[in-house]
Formats: sequence, structure tokens, C-alpha cells
Amino acid sequence: PVRVRYAPSPTGYLHIGGVRTILFNWLFARKHGGRFILRFEDTDPERSRDELIAPMLESIRWLGLDWDEGPDVGGPYGPYRQSQRLDLYRETLDRLLAAGKAYLCYCTPEELAAERERARAAGRPAVYSGRCRHLTPAERRRFEAEGRRPAVRLRVPEGGQVVVHDLVKGEVAFDVAQIGDFIIARADGMPVYNFAVVVDDHHMAISHVIRGDEHLSNTPKQLLVYRALGWEPPQFAHVPMILAPDRTKLSKRHGAVAVDEYRRQGFLPEAILNYVALLGWSPGDDREILSLDEMIRLFDFDRVSRTAAIYDVEKMAWMNGHYLRAADLDRVVDLVIPRLQEAGLLQGTPEGDERRRLRAIVDAVRQRVRTLGELVEASRYFFADFADYEEAGVRKHFDRDDAIPILEAVAETLSRVEPWTQAAIEQALRGLAERMGVGTGRIFHPTRLAVSGRTVGPGVFDVICWVGRDRCLARIHRAIE
Ligand code: GLU
Repeated sequence: PVRVRYAPSPTGYLHIGGVRTILFNWLFARKHGGRFILRFEDTDPERSRDELIAPMLESIRWLGLDWDEGPDVGGPYGPYRQSQRLDLYRETLDRLLAAGKAYLCYCTPEELAAERERARAAGRPAVYSGRCRHLTPAERRRFEAEGRRPAVRLRVPEGGQVVVHDLVKGEVAFDVAQIGDFIIARADGMPVYNFAVVVDDHHMAISHVIRGDEHLSNTPKQLLVYRALGWEPPQFAHVPMILAPDRTKLSKRHGAVAVDEYRRQGFLPEAILNYVALLGWSPGDDREILSLDEMIRLFDFDRVSRTAAIYDVEKMAWMNGHYLRAADLDRVVDLVIPRLQEAGLLQGTPEGDERRRLRAIVDAVRQRVRTLGELVEASRYFFADFADYEEAGVRKHFDRDDAIPILEAVAETLSRVEPWTQAAIEQALRGLAERMGVGTGRIFHPTRLAVSGRTVGPGVFDVICWVGRDRCLARIHRAIE
């Protein structure tokens, strides 16, 4: 059975790369009727804190992805936090030590640094020399008496290769001689990642390890641990790195990388998932808009690229605009309400006619924006007066000799429109243009600018209608003064 996992270190927030790893694991599990597991690699007491797990779970939940086993829901292979599995690592270490497949190393950090320095000077790879490989009991006692605390190293074969059979990268061979005996538990007894991950993946019956390709170089070490323990390794799939548009590793200095930040800006989870799915995977044609169900159906490692993916937030914003327009209108309205309240543009929760008005505004404005944040900004003038007009618009539409008489005539016309609907407003303003013998643009443009302060936006009759008659008249009079 397919069992896959996402195994973050709880550093506090979920970032775009994490989302992509989660999504690929989740799609693969759902495609094959398998299980998706969350496991927290929280053995680093300095970096890992309890309270950092909950927000991460919340971010994943917000994205709409679920998990079958994890620290909160439990499961048959728990616990799902490494800090609660220390006994298991200890037992496994003892087993390796007893079998002579691992040994205690008393080298101090200074000694190891000096060794690395000598290797570098001699142009050799900085591989552990194996100084503690064959300590006699007497030597060991002497080190203990000096107060040295041992780390545990895996005894690695002297030569040969380890070959990773990767579902994405193909066969990748590593020279064992370049690896050397590596540490599997630190002097303080804590297991290191390359060891704990193997113990956990084995005991959690993980069938496929799907993760970022920064871990490809760890995989030979992990395979050596599997071998030493006599365990069958899982299959590996290393998905390509995500780079910023400048082709450097994506990081905070390229702007937002945290999911919560995108949530705050008003991205929809389905847009994030859809965009992130295409970071290193493609459905095989040039389709870009895909539902989760389609992704599940089409997902396959054959279509995961071997080379880095470029993260383009503009593209994701574009996609978000698409989803904002495609989403159920009432859902979007409900998402916008708290944002309008927070911006001081709305008091209370609108009902009846008020809600109908808000619905119409949201529907009109969402045609032209990309995020909920932009939607709120672009709808401000429906709810509150504005201080400034767009400058270019003023020059073009207000600084004309006939601007004032036209706006006066518009105000007079709008004061008599019945009923107050887009259709009636349109008819009245077109009639006015005809009576004045001017093009409709000469009427519509200054009116929009007077009423909204802007030169672009939803259809001008929508704008006039939903700003409302009283506000329109007041704003036109203010523009004339
Ligand atoms: N804790 C590791 C990370 O966050 C997990 C890597 C793995 O999936 O093995 O990168």
C-alpha cells in the first residue's frame, strides 16, 4: 500500500516549497488510495517548539489538504513527533553498536575541524578519517576519563557505490569513499536527521519518500543506514528545487514565501495549490487551470521535471484572479466582509438589500483584480469618500472648458433617473449625450472620475448605480467646486 509522508521541522510557518512537497505527496496518496502522514522532525530543541506545530497544521488545513495520520489525529504508527520517539532511536543505535555496524567516536569538534583542514590542504575530500573506528577498551576508558562524550558513527564500507533509484532523477550513483563514516547520533544522544528519518520511515511503513531534491545528497547516507539495519528502503522521488525568477534559491528576500502571508493578502487556497502543482510538474499538455480532482487523476512522476522550477508570484496572482472570478460569489462576499470591516469600510454584517448591493459590487470589482486585498482596495469608493482624484484623469477629463457644464447636466439627469438601475442610468446618460451633441465618452469619463476618483474600474453604470444616487450627486457637486 502507498504510504507517504511530509516530515517538516516545525520552524513555525509553511512556505511555498513545503506546500509543493505536501501537495505532491497528497496527490500521490490520493491517486493510489494510500495514506498521507504528517510527522514532525522536532528533535532540535533549539529550533523546534511545540507551539509551532499547531499553526503549521492550520495552514495545511486552510489549503484544503487532509492527512490520515499525524500528531493531532494519531494513527497506528505513532507517535508522530520525533521528540517522542527517542527510545526507538536509542534501541536502534544500540542494535547497530552491538552488531559492530556503528561505533562510538570521541573526537572533539576541534580535532575534527583540524582533520578537515588537513584534508582540504591536501586536496582530499573532507571525509572522516576513521580515527575512532578501532579504539581499544583502554583508549575508550581514557577518553571517558577525560570527560569526552561520544557521538555514534555508522561504519561505512570502504569502497564501492551507493545507487539511488529515483523516480524522478533516475539512477544517481554516489561514491561511498566520499561519504565516510558519518555521525548518526550526536554526543548529547540526539539522533541526526539521516538516521532518525530512516528509523521513522521504516517503522511507519513509508512506501515512497517524496521530497525536495536538496535531500538527494542525503539519500546515499540513508541507504547505508537501511543496509546496516537490514531493512528494505522505500522508493524515492526527489522533486526539483524551486528558484526565484533571478534563479537563486527562493527565500524571504524575494518577497512573501509563507502561506499565511498569501492568505493575508487574499489568495485563495485553490489558486495556491493549482499554481504550486505546476512547479516542477505538468499535466502533459499546456493546460494550466486544474482542479484537485484532475490533478489526482493526472499526477505522475513521469511528468515531474528534473530541473529547477521558477517561482513567479505574478503568475500565481494571475491564477488567483481566475479563481476569484470562478468562485461562488457568496463565498467571495463572505471572505471580503471581514476585510472591509477591518479596513473600516463596513460596520456590521450586511443583510437584505445591503447584502445584495455588496454582492453586486464584489461581482463587478472581482472582474478586474487578482486578490481579495486588491478587491477591497478597488472597492473603497463604494463605501467611503476619497480624498484625491487620479491625476492623469483630472488633466484629461476635468481640465476642459465644458467639464463643468457637463457634470452639472449629469447631476441634474441623475437626480431624476427612475428607477435607480443600471439600465435606466445608461439610458438617461446616453440621452443626455445626444441632447448635448457630444460623444458618450465626454459624459461617461468625467462622471466616473467624479464619482470614483478613478479612470478605470467596473462598468460606469455599475459604478454609478452601486455608489448610490445621493453619494453620486454629492461627489459630482464636490468635483464641480
Ligand atoms: N525534516 C526534513 C525537512 O524538512 C525532512 C526531509 C525528508 O522528507 O526526509 O527537510
